[in-house]
Amino acid sequence: MASRDDYASMPKNHVLGLIQGAKEALGKDLVILGHHYQRDEVIRFADHRGDSLELSRAAAAARDARYIVFCGVDFMAESAAILCDQEQLVFIPAKSARCPMAGMAEVADAAEAWDHLASIWRGDLLPVTYQNSSAELKAFCGNRGGAVCTSSNAGAIFQWALERKGHILFFPDEHLGRNTALSLGLADEEIAVWDPRRPWDAAPVVAKAKVVAWRGYCYVHTFFTVNQVEVARERYPQSKVVVHPECPAEVVVRSDANGSTSYMVRTVGEAPPGSIFVIGTELNLVNRLHREHPDKTVVPLARSACHAMAEINPHNLLYVLEGILQKRVENVIEVPAEIASGAQLALERMLAVA
Ligand code: 13P
Ligand code: SF4
Repeated sequence: MASRDDYASMPKNHVLGLIQGAKEALGKDLVILGHHYQRDEVIRFADHRGDSLELSRAAAAARDARYIVFCGVDFMAESAAILCDQEQLVFIPAKSARCPMAGMAEVADAAEAWDHLASIWRGDLLPVTYQNSSAELKAFCGNRGGAVCTSSNAGAIFQWALERKGHILFFPDEHLGRNTALSLGLADEEIAVWDPRRPWDAAPVVAKAKVVAWRGYCYVHTFFTVNQVEVARERYPQSKVVVHPECPAEVVVRSDANGSTSYMVRTVGEAPPGSIFVIGTELNLVNRLHREHPDKTVVPLARSACHAMAEINPHNLLYVLEGILQKRVENVIEVPAEIASGAQLALERMLAVA
């Protein structure tokens, strides 16, 4: 039986042909899900490509498939495993595809923040976590009445939470938290930041806060700056600047629009020929939009790539697919039942709201 290293040294064209063959052999038993940040040679094999919310929905709907192969990062595959049936198996081609932001909020630190804020506000708060978080943190939120959100439904989930309670504790992306709160009309002083490394700093600033955002960030999106937006506007005065809401607020307020990866795909796709877009998100997606729309100009705000997404490649995709054919169960995503049940509550609240 060929080893992982044998696969890694196969010529790429041969690998692409074998992936197609493995897909055909597995037929309806297999569904491949691909996030928009995946490289072209991987996403071309996806049965569904989408943003984080769409892929969660696709996983929940793929009831006929025995095997789901998730070409994305750890937290996305975990959510798929929680939302599908127990008999289904979810695989990820590379376990090293770990989103660093999802590791920025540990449950023990989250519990410290929760206890502190719950005592100040006498329980008048709900936890909300970005999909980009561990299954444990999703369970922490689900078990306290809270929900998951993604970049495409954060506004709706914040509204849902604020209709129920006076305050939100949001994990782990400070920027998505602030951008969402600002988009709902909250004032700057109604948004506080909880830094798990300096929890005592939050105490004075939470007095007027309605949203407390965890001090986590995505390095791919904090790479974008106000200066880059200004330079892009000088260079392309007719352009629309579209950024992801994981960008810092000062970048988002200077953009023309912000939204999830699928929002960007739709926005560019629906624009008339000749339109010019400067896009602030991961480079694979921007390059693909550029190639798929030769009648439009699509350029990156800056070249910023996600190393976690890049861990998935055709070679490890083939290794997993042939493993399924050979009944070699490797790279399966397993979430312990006691965590999965709480996380499922939080995910299903999200799917019901948005
Ligand atoms: P989307 O939900 O917009 O696809 O974003 C996921 C992500 O990880 C962005 O960095
Ligand atoms: Fe995580 Fe950022 Fe990569 Fe998205 S782009 S998976 S948030 S590191």
